[in-house]
Amino acid sequence: MNKNKEVDVVIIGAGVTGLVTAFYLIEKGLKVLVLDKSDRVGGQMESIHEDGFVFESGPNTGVVSNAEVVELFQKLHPHCSLEIARKEAKVRLIWKDGAFHPLPSGLSSAVSTPLFTLSDKIRVLFEPLRKKGDDPFESIGSLTKRRLGKSFLNYAVDPFISGIYAGDPSKLVTRFALPKLYNLEQNYGSFIRGSIKKASEPKSERDKLATKEVFSVPGGFGELTKALKEKIKEENIRLSVKSISVQPVEDGWQTFLSSDEQIHSRYIVSTAPAFALPELLPFIDEKEMNPISSLRYAPVIQVGVGVTKADGHVPNAFGGLVPSCEKKKMLGILFPSSCFSHRSPEGGGTLSFFIGGSKHPEYLDYTDTQLEELVKESLCTMLGFPHGYTPDKIKIFRHERAIPQYEADSEERLTSIERLKEQYPRLFLAGGIRDGIGMADRIKQATRIAEEIVNLK
Ligand SMILES: Cc1cc2nc3c(=O)[nH]c(=O)nc-3n(C[C@H](O)[C@H](O)[C@H](O)COP(=O)(O)OP(=O)(O)OC[C@H]3O[C@@H](n4cnc5c(N)ncnc54)[C@H](O)[C@@H]3O)c2cc1C
Repeated sequence: MNKNKEVDVVIIGAGVTGLVTAFYLIEKGLKVLVLDKSDRVGGQMESIHEDGFVFESGPNTGVVSNAEVVELFQKLHPHCSLEIARKEAKVRLIWKDGAFHPLPSGLSSAVSTPLFTLSDKIRVLFEPLRKKGDDPFESIGSLTKRRLGKSFLNYAVDPFISGIYAGDPSKLVTRFALPKLYNLEQNYGSFIRGSIKKASEPKSERDKLATKEVFSVPGGFGELTKALKEKIKEENIRLSVKSISVQPVEDGWQTFLSSDEQIHSRYIVSTAPAFALPELLPFIDEKEMNPISSLRYAPVIQVGVGVTKADGHVPNAFGGLVPSCEKKKMLGILFPSSCFSHRSPEGGGTLSFFIGGSKHPEYLDYTDTQLEELVKESLCTMLGFPHGYTPDKIKIFRHERAIPQYEADSEERLTSIERLKEQYPRLFLAGGIRDGIGMADRIKQATRIAEEIVNLK
């Protein structure tokens, strides 16, 4: 076997970021090798098919928040296509005082909802008049309380942040975690004024592709990574690679594998999580690496539930989120079968429970039996399944380091990444360590990195 290989680009990580980067580079004629320590592609994304049910480990849905998502699926057609969620996905439920309530979607529901206090509802009317903040490190919690009031923090933003970041609004910094919201206040002085102005600004045809709709793919996200893998071709992907370390050499990079193989490349793209970087990139000194590798991740336990007879107990909604002030052991429940086709046998349903998050890492220590009991109890108390009900399927997925938390240390991390980019222009540090944590963010980042490499070449 030839122990020395030569490619244009080595990509570390076969999650969606690595796969999309590889897909575009190969399309442009570059020679690419994707390396992953896992024995499968997909990283945090995996779909499990069992007896007519589809269970997602990792994301259940994405948002068409940028044109790059649509363009990727246009390229993958007909091997993999976008499945836009049914209109029911617009209904978001919030748990309060022992029941789920829909998050208001219009003026009359906003007036009548029991989720927010009367004084906060009145307060919102004056949001456009409120002074804009001047703390670039202000947390999402503080910003919400200042502009909208405490009940909006507790019953809208806190559950929304649990749903996206599994995080703590008092620790996540708005400028890094929700930059669009931060910019609305900074650029327009108000969320309401900014949203109205932005909606009336002219949009290019490309911008219009970002419909903000909720999406998945038929059969689950595993089909997306499968389609990408097929396009990239097996010979350009190496899985179960136990140890990888990279060193700069005069004309590029040398990647050393535990099998004694060496790969020479002009570019390196790392999509591995922050904590994996010191071992992968040992040439970066500790002072520069620490602010990156210390990025904190929230743990998430996901429990997929399949029922063959839903009997009206799986709501026609996107999901139900649980505010932390309600003190339940649940971050929320998604209802994928209400949003997408063929997720369960006819008449049945799938549910995805989320437990843990940065506020409750201790649930990682729950045994499978404890988690099953917790889910069974919640099916009865929160969704009205009969007392003692046992679902047909329960699948437990533990993500010890699931979602990166963009907290106050993000400034230092991003500065270090920028400095390294200046020092090593052919090294791309990518993945969730920057540019957003959602799947659409990953697709956009990967597309841009591929473009940058093609332009540099
Ligand atoms: C529970 C959960 C729920 C989520 N829900 C949503 C959602 O609803 N909507 C949404 O948009 N996003 C969601 N996300 C986020 C989304 O899944 C991620 O943004 C996306 O999948 C990350 O892709 P990635 O390729 O950047 O990273 P990863 O998928 O983490 O891929 C990184 C790859 O690097 C590999 N790797 C790590 N270390 C090494 C090493 N030393 N050597 C070689 N390879 C290595 C890993 O094996 C992995 O395959 C969720 C994530 C989780 C965990």
